[in-house]
Amino acid sequence: MSEDFKNFAIIDSAKNIVNTITDDNYEKTAVKKISILGSTGSIGTQALEICDDLNITPTVLTANTNIRTLEQQVRRYKPHIAAVYDNNAAAQLKIAIADTQTKVLCGKDGLLAAAEYDDTDMVLNSLVGMVGLEPTLKAANAKKNIALANKEALVAGGELVKEAIKANGVALLPVDSEHSAIFQCLQGANSKKEVKKLILTASGGPFLGKTTQQLKDVTPQQALKHPNWNMGAKITIDSATMMNKGLEIIEAYWLFGVKAEEIDVVVHPQSIIHSLVEYSDNAVIAQLGMPDMKIPIQYAITYPKRLPCSTPQLSLTDIGKLTFFEPDYETFLCMQACKQALVYGQAAQTAANGANEEANAAFRSGKISFLKIGELVYNAMQTQSNNNIASLQDVFECDEAARQYVKERL
Ligand code: MG
Repeated sequence: MSEDFKNFAIIDSAKNIVNTITDDNYEKTAVKKISILGSTGSIGTQALEICDDLNITPTVLTANTNIRTLEQQVRRYKPHIAAVYDNNAAAQLKIAIADTQTKVLCGKDGLLAAAEYDDTDMVLNSLVGMVGLEPTLKAANAKKNIALANKEALVAGGELVKEAIKANGVALLPVDSEHSAIFQCLQGANSKKEVKKLILTASGGPFLGKTTQQLKDVTPQQALKHPNWNMGAKITIDSATMMNKGLEIIEAYWLFGVKAEEIDVVVHPQSIIHSLVEYSDNAVIAQLGMPDMKIPIQYAITYPKRLPCSTPQLSLTDIGKLTFFEPDYETFLCMQACKQALVYGQAAQTAANGANEEANAAFRSGKISFLKIGELVYNAMQTQSNNNIASLQDVFECDEAARQYVKERL
């Protein structure tokens, strides 16, 4: 592999996964034990189904508050560690599973200890929000390969994650479907010089084609109805505001180390093409599949192998038609804020994410209108763009300032 390839930034870390494939071991995964941070969420539960299929043992499971599901998972998978972020919920789980061998950890310290737990081959970070940044750094510093579904960690602290991955010689594999698609389209590229553009597809969410006027009074219930993907509440609202695509533009920037202008977005309502790479000869390589997160989750776990997956097969003749549109940056201000944040730098990115986490939650609880989310994210991003980010502490302070900006305007 040429030196040029190193310029693929974090993605190049995948070379740290030693490739020893033989016919004898092909069906077996190199990952035998896995830690799943956020095991009760949409990605976490699908990852556990993959563990069933591939005979992988989860040694660490964590949840925020959902101890009902976590208790069932503990009884079924018998992990060494179960960490619960919410202290009260952790105390309840401790009582509920007192008859098991699983050790319960609680709070932020518990989550961090779970992230650096030694008896595991990979840490799957499927936490939601920038709360996942510190566990990502802990896992890297504990020399664990990471499968990352937690895009907010990269947006809030991309530089720190990049440094930690590099310093520890571990792999960071994308789980986000678009970034997994780009990663797959890059397999076989000889050099970064061959790559002209990364093209992220966006479904457009439930409000595709709507005008600002039409979006004035939409409710959280309407925004929570995603046409293609079945996901958690936070990301579903992020899809409706297109903040999700904005976050993914920044995520792509950190993962692949390309310039801001080398990342494009195309709206593709069917969500069959998961993303594309345009090469220097104008050849475009795309990755297609049904909109099902199991493929990207499993590819991160089995990389560089491909193994059978319990996801539905794609039938292009059943789909019939694939369509494409320009994204609407004027109506979906969140996406514009993220594009601008990429130009401004890390502080603006951290702030855009922090402001969105607050505004997204405020919309879901009926405190602000749908359009207010974009306005708050854009303004908070601009207000905080001059902060200097050199440490985790700086990230926390910038994030907090952006959240405060939003809270004062609710
Ligand atoms: Mg995605």
